[in-house]
Amino acid sequence: MPSSSSSHVVIFPFMAQGHTLPLLYLSKALSHQQIKVTIITTPSNANSMAKYVTNHPDINLHEIPFPTIDGLPKGCENTSQLPSMEFLLPFLQATKELQKPFEQVLETMIKSNTPPLCVISDFFLGWSLASCQALGVPRLAFHGMGVLSMAISKSSWVHAPQIDSLSMFDPVDLPGMRLPFTLTKADLPAETVNSSNHDDPMSKFIGEVGEDDAKSWGIIVNSFKELEENHIPSFESFYMNGAKAWCLGPLFLYDEMEGLEKSINQSQISSMSTQWLDEQITPDSVIYVSFGTQAAVSDSQLDEVAFGLEESGFPFLWVVRSKSWSLPGGVEEKIKGRGLIVKEWVDQRQILSHRATGGFLSHCGWNSVLESVAAGVPILAWPMMAEQSLNAKLIVDGLGAGTSIKKVQNQGSEILVSRQAISEGVKELMGGQKGRSARERAEPLGRVARRAVQKDGSSHDTLSKLIDQLRRC
Ligand code: UDP
Repeated sequence: MPSSSSSHVVIFPFMAQGHTLPLLYLSKALSHQQIKVTIITTPSNANSMAKYVTNHPDINLHEIPFPTIDGLPKGCENTSQLPSMEFLLPFLQATKELQKPFEQVLETMIKSNTPPLCVISDFFLGWSLASCQALGVPRLAFHGMGVLSMAISKSSWVHAPQIDSLSMFDPVDLPGMRLPFTLTKADLPAETVNSSNHDDPMSKFIGEVGEDDAKSWGIIVNSFKELEENHIPSFESFYMNGAKAWCLGPLFLYDEMEGLEKSINQSQISSMSTQWLDEQITPDSVIYVSFGTQAAVSDSQLDEVAFGLEESGFPFLWVVRSKSWSLPGGVEEKIKGRGLIVKEWVDQRQILSHRATGGFLSHCGWNSVLESVAAGVPILAWPMMAEQSLNAKLIVDGLGAGTSIKKVQNQGSEILVSRQAISEGVKELMGGQKGRSARERAEPLGRVARRAVQKDGSSHDTLSKLIDQLRRC
């Protein structure tokens, strides 16, 4: 059992960047509260995490080996190393084999009289619940999603058979939920829509980890009360034993607070993209374009984006992940001096907080949404997969802090978003009336987000309350 003086937390992130980084930032927030943190992970993930936690003697990385299983290429320890998303299920199955070594780490802590206050483990590592329960340690789950999208996902999972009978663009009514927008089946994550009886292997896995999730002691959420407070009760209703959702975000802001402290006496080395932004004289004039790290965007769709950005006439900074794609003929000349296309990793948070950045054409991954919100930058929403449509609707219809790309609605196969739709969307966000009012909503929201993690802010207070409550367990 954790003793009342215990000041130690164990974190076990899922091995995917969008799941790991927020928990690394949380570990920094905990260390600011004089809590020691042990992050359990596998060797190659520990290697890439090390740079984030140097200078933090209170944060330790504890390595356990990644299992070798049939059907998964050797050396894949992170979803970013998978040859394709077809390997996701074997990868998820492999992580179940981490249970024994994980339990050994916990047992050693307990035997040496340093039991943790709690374990914070990813939703995908559902088996960690049984281990924690056996050893008497509270388990908190982490999903990497916002409150509203989690509540909708859970509710639509429960009501999948009724939703199954609807057509793609019929409104979906979820019992007991008051949504700030009209929800359609097309907005729901694929695992809900594609298998209403949940009997395919991926749905079975999600069903299993979902059951463990519901029995957790609590849920850590990378969001803040002021953004999603109305939806917390319906989200919590999917949990047993009065488990609470603890909104502690935006978690990356704890990292930035450290960055500010460090930068006082250090000159910042500017990247190519920030140097280019520095040259853009007019504030809020540039649209930043990124579709995150997971969504597959075809080369022909990238061509349409290039033409659309060119036609819009606005300056843009665009991060492209595709290695095979190059600019279509003739476009390079036309965008000279007005557009920068980068094929390397950029510091997205720095770009969003640059005074020249005035809009974000985004796939609406939850991390990107929070980063844009915190920077007070309105979003031009182009959701592509997973729960991104729900995030987009929250921002555009729920909060009024963005506008949407007009997609041609179709029931079946993927079709391209046209250059006209992209160009019109960019013009509206950067120069139109709807864009102006989105900016007017986004800017104050940014101030509220930043206040949330400061002393006496909602997320900062919630973290203190969480630690107090765990100490009383
Ligand atoms: N990101 C970045 N530089 C890049 C591309 C992405 O910093 O060149 C970061 C971005 O700031 C965000 C994360 O990668 O924190 C992407 O997460 P998100 O949830 O937005 O989307 P996903 O990649 O999971 O679809």
